[in-house]
Amino acid sequence: MDSQQILDLYDWQEGLCFRHPARGTQETAHIKTIRPPAGGLQDVRACAECVLQIEDAKERAAARGGETYRPGRLSGASDAS
Ligand SMILES: [Zn+2]
Repeated sequence: MDSQQILDLYDWQEGLCFRHPARGTQETAHIKTIRPPAGGLQDVRACAECVLQIEDAKERAAARGGETYRPGRLSGASDAS
């Protein structure tokens, strides 16, 4: 699976990357929602560069654990697709 195929698994919208907020608004994908101690919900978004890094790390972790790597599921959403 190449980089573009992985990126195509995500929905892209303008936002701030959680690792690169200094870059300002750019195309980002929603990867998870966290509950800050202060309350409420906060979306965590990542730019393409970070999504690919995270997917790469996930692929290696899956290989180490003998599990099947499934890209595009960073959010841990319980969708059955
Ligand atoms: Zn980033």
